Amino acid sequence: MEFSSKLLENAVYEMSQLPGVGKRTALRLVLHLLRQPKTQTDHLVTALASLRNEIKFCKQCHSISDKDICDICSNSSRLKDIVCVVEDIRDVMAIENTGQYRGLYHVLGGKISPLDGIGPQDLNISSLMEKVKSGEIKELIFALSATMEGDTTNFYIYKQIENEQVKTSTIARGISVNDELEYADEVTLGRSIINRIPFENALKNT
Ligand SMILES: [Zn+2]
Repeated sequence: MEFSSKLLENAVYEMSQLPGVGKRTALRLVLHLLRQPKTQTDHLVTALASLRNEIKFCKQCHSISDKDICDICSNSSRLKDIVCVVEDIRDVMAIENTGQYRGLYHVLGGKISPLDGIGPQDLNISSLMEKVKSGEIKELIFALSATMEGDTTNFYIYKQIENEQVKTSTIARGISVNDELEYADEVTLGRSIINRIPFENALKNT
């Protein structure tokens, strides 16, 4: 792609680094921004810069938050002894949208995936173990996607805590499209949280 402007070329290049955005789409987006009032671009730039500079990860659940402790963890009406283990904040949002869950979350920040070089040490697993070992958790709910990586991660954590005094359960399988929790419809997802099954039972079915 030949550019008559280095400024344009730079902007298109940076935009094309986003997932799913090719050079042509990047050019279209950049030209769109140029046609908009300058304030709109200013707002976008400010929002992105603030996001990167000011975002925090909750010290308790590792979810993305504006504060050291997120609104869910600091909400006194949530059940502190039930913790739902999820991959990232999209899962938290999906489950929160169901309005059916009153416990807390633990965001792993990914799944164990040897092919991608992601091991247990790359995820927020040790802090989860500490929580379990401290005895403050009665039930751990696995809500990772029904993929091989999700299963591996569930099983790894399960093995680590097998001898601890904590109940483990999992949300029903076959609830989602594309194996992504975020796409499951709210009613089905909500129901699968209410009707969660003991993790041991899920193991027998695989
Ligand atoms: Zn939190």
